[in-house]
Amino acid sequence: MAVEFGLTEEQELLRAEIRRFAEERILPGTAGRDRRHEFPADLVAEMGELGLLGMLIAERHGGGGVEPLTYCLAVEEVSRACPSLGVTMSVTNSVCGWPIDRFASEELKRRVLPGMASGQVLGGFCVTEPGSGSDAASMRATARRDGDSWVLEGEKAWITNAGPGGVFVAFAKTDPAAGKRGISAFVVTADAPGFRVGAPEEKLGLRASRTANVYFDGCRIPAGNLLGEEGQGLKIALATLDHSRLGIAAQSVGIHRRALELATAYARERVQFGVPIAEHQAIRFKLATMATELEAARALTWYAASVSEQRRDAGRFAAEAKAYASEAANRACWEALQIHGGNGFSEEYEVARLYRDVRVTTIYEGTSEMQRLVIARHLLGT
Ligand SMILES: Cc1cc2nc3c(=O)[nH]c(=O)nc-3n(C[C@H](O)[C@H](O)[C@H](O)COP(=O)(O)OP(=O)(O)OC[C@H]3O[C@@H](n4cnc5c(N)ncnc54)[C@H](O)[C@@H]3O)c2cc1C
Repeated sequence: MAVEFGLTEEQELLRAEIRRFAEERILPGTAGRDRRHEFPADLVAEMGELGLLGMLIAERHGGGGVEPLTYCLAVEEVSRACPSLGVTMSVTNSVCGWPIDRFASEELKRRVLPGMASGQVLGGFCVTEPGSGSDAASMRATARRDGDSWVLEGEKAWITNAGPGGVFVAFAKTDPAAGKRGISAFVVTADAPGFRVGAPEEKLGLRASRTANVYFDGCRIPAGNLLGEEGQGLKIALATLDHSRLGIAAQSVGIHRRALELATAYARERVQFGVPIAEHQAIRFKLATMATELEAARALTWYAASVSEQRRDAGRFAAEAKAYASEAANRACWEALQIHGGNGFSEEYEVARLYRDVRVTTIYEGTSEMQRLVIARHLLGT
């Protein structure tokens, strides 16, 4: 299969615009927001105005209607400047906007997509529960039909954008006896009666993003908020994650790129044994490996995006890109901190925050272990 990695002129221009925005508007405040655990609503609104929050929503609903590769370019730029904003953006686009655009009825799309596409409404995705993470099918949340409504009961854990978010794609069992075929997907708006958000998590990293539990206490939503057909929930969740993992791969590439930049700059400046440490071969080898793995991670990500663009099954490639890029970014941040020596252990240096922020990339939207199970399933056909 021919894969074209050259970017179009339009993609180059968009990337340059987002790079400038990230450099001027995002990066200067990243350390302060992390220190204050501050979710920057105003900056997120600016990102919305730039079109960064509705990129995958069809143009007829006001979105950008861009292809996955263009979306990956945007996530990389934002995440390089601030991984917290990278996840805020990627969750809204790829695990909320994308499945609604793909699986909702026209009526439901008309109700919720324009707000998301304009960037005024942030989105979220509620699958994880306190007792079910990797094994999503064992979830306990339920939904029952009551006249013209669905009524949801249950608790979802670790929900990105819970708090600031206005629209959530949520999963619950409509037929608990049917196991994985008894799960359905819904669109739940934060103003629905019985929708409640818990206290924000105190996290190791991504401190400027919001993560909290969500409670459905007899949460009542219109019957038309069902996504797809009853019982298709797990399929919708897996299809969504197959696609959205590209965003986490791109987030990892952005963090990796920043780690390499910081390490290179520090290695040029820091003098030990009478020369910049960049003159020591051990340091040069670290930088070379970080650079090589960065290119490999980006190439895998773009390859998976291009497979997806051809409307072919990109599940395996997205899993490979996510597993590799997130692990490579973790290695890169580890080495970047090592190159900073003791200073890397100080919060005065950006690399310390990157080291905390990168850790979750091998965990959310499916752990590395789960990605390998997906890859092996494709290889073995079982
Ligand atoms: C910052 C953050 C944001 C998040 N945002 C969201 C969100 O917006 N929406 C949402 O729904 N969830 C979200 N999550 C949850 C995230 O997707 C889960 O944490 C992740 O899927 C792993 O689930 P778990 O934490 O329950 O770990 P577990 O599933 O309990 O896994 C624990 C360990 O066991 C391993 N393991 C489990 N099963 C197997 C197996 N069969 N074979 C080999 N190893 C196995 C795992 O790989 C892992 O290493 C978020 C998490 C974090 C930390």
